[in-house]
Amino acid sequence: MDLRFTPEEVAFREEVRAFIRDNLPREIRERMRLGYPPRKQDTIDWMRILNAHGWAAYNWPKEHGGPGWSPIQRMIFNEENLAAPAPELLSFNITMIGPVLIQFGTPEQKAHFLPRARNLDDWWCQGFSEPGAGSDLASLKTRAVREGDDYVVNGQKIWTSTAHNADWCFCLVRTNPQAAKRQEGISFLLIDMKTPGIEVRPIISIDGSHHLNEVFFTDVKVPVANLVGEENKGWTVAKYLLGNERTGIARLGKSKERVRFAKEIAREVRHRGAPLIEDRGFRQRVAQMEVDMKALEITQLRVISAYAKAGGNRPDPLSSVLKVKGTELLQASSEMVMDVGGPQAMPIWQHELAAMANEPAIGPDWAAYMAAPYLMLRAASIYGGTNEIQKNILNKAVLGL
Ligand SMILES: Cc1cc2nc3c(=O)[nH]c(=O)nc-3n(C[C@H](O)[C@H](O)[C@H](O)COP(=O)(O)OP(=O)(O)OC[C@H]3O[C@@H](n4cnc5c(N)ncnc54)[C@H](O)[C@@H]3O)c2cc1C
Repeated sequence: MDLRFTPEEVAFREEVRAFIRDNLPREIRERMRLGYPPRKQDTIDWMRILNAHGWAAYNWPKEHGGPGWSPIQRMIFNEENLAAPAPELLSFNITMIGPVLIQFGTPEQKAHFLPRARNLDDWWCQGFSEPGAGSDLASLKTRAVREGDDYVVNGQKIWTSTAHNADWCFCLVRTNPQAAKRQEGISFLLIDMKTPGIEVRPIISIDGSHHLNEVFFTDVKVPVANLVGEENKGWTVAKYLLGNERTGIARLGKSKERVRFAKEIAREVRHRGAPLIEDRGFRQRVAQMEVDMKALEITQLRVISAYAKAGGNRPDPLSSVLKVKGTELLQASSEMVMDVGGPQAMPIWQHELAAMANEPAIGPDWAAYMAAPYLMLRAASIYGGTNEIQKNILNKAVLGL
C-alpha cells in the first residue's frame, strides 16, 4: 500500500485550506484558537457557509446534496476543518442521521429532513443512552406503544449532548419487550423536541459548561410516519449509525491544532530564563506527540484502505484503534497546552468573571480558556463507545483473544 498522498489529494488539501482561510469568520477562528468551544450560532453560520459551497454534508453522495468525495478527501477535509480551527460540523446531522436516512429513510423522510439537516435548519440530538444503558445499549427501557397512527413514548434518556439546542432527536425505543433477544424489540424514531411531554434538564459538566442533558418523555405522541426502517428493527439502524464514518473519530486535526498552539505559546512562556520552546525536555515531549500523530495518520489511512477493500459495508475493527489512540492524543495535547500555560492556565472563566465585574482580566488571553477543554476532554474516552469497550473489540476481532 502506498501511504503517500497523490498530487490530486495534495491539491485538494490546498483547496480546502484556502477556502477555510478565506471564508471562516475571523472572530470565530480567533475564539476557537484560544480554545473556546464554538457557540451555537457559530456552528450554524459555518455549516451554512459550507453548505452554500456544497461541502457541509461532506460524507454524503452527490444526489443528496453532498460533494461525493472519496474517503481520503473526507479525511483531509475533516482534518483541515479541525486544524483551522473551525467549528466541527454537527455530527448528529452530518455523520449520523443524514447517512441513516439515506440508507433507511422513506422518500418523504429523505425529501423533508436531508436538506434541512445539511443546512442546519434542524439541529439534531442523539437519544440512545439511558441510566443503566450505556455500553450495554440493548438494555434500554424507554417504551413506545403503538396507538393508532402514533407511538406513545415514556421513559428517560441521559447524557444527551446539546438536547437543549435541538429541534429533533433520533431515539432508540423499546417497541417489543417480549422479544426473545433484547436487540429485536427496539425501534428507531424521529422525535420533534417541541412535542408536549418532553422535558430537558441540564447536566453541568466539570468544565462548568452546559453541553449535556437528561431528557424525560411522558406520554409523548410520535407519528408512525417518523419510524425509520421497520418496527423492532431499530438495532440494525443503530448499528449502521454507530459504525458509519469511523475515520473521523480520531479527530486528529484537533490534536494537531492543540500541539501547534502549545508550541506557539511556548515561544512566549519563559522557563529557567529562556523561552520554553528551547527546553530540551519540552522539545522531546513535542517530538513524541508528533511521532504519535504521524503514526495515527498512517493507521487512519490503513483503516480507510481496509474499509474500501471490504466494499465500505462494515467498519473495520481496526477503527477502534483510531478511537482509543485518537482520544489519548486529544487528552495528551490538551494536557500539554495546560502545562505550557502553567499556573496561568488553572482558573476557568477568569476572563468572563473579570468582564462581569468590569475589571481587567488577569493573565494573557491565551490562558483564558486552557483548563476547560482539558477538563472536558477527559470525557473523550467515554463518549462514542468507551475505550475499554473498544479494547474488547480489538481483543476479539483483531487479536482473536
Ligand atoms: C460528554 C459525553 C457526551 C455524550 N453524549 C451522548 C449523546 O449525545 N447521546 C447519547 O445517547 N449518549 C451520549 N453519551 C453517553 C455515552 O455514550 C455513554 O456514557 C457511554 O456509552 C458509556 O456508558 P455509561 O456512561 O452508561 O457507562 P457504563 O456502560 O456503565 O460503563 C461504566 C464503566 O465500565 C466500563 N465497562 C462497561 N462495560 C464493560 C465491559 N463489557 N468491559 C470492560 N469495561 C466495561 C466502561 O468502559 C466504563 O469505564 C455521552 C457521554 C459523555 C461522557
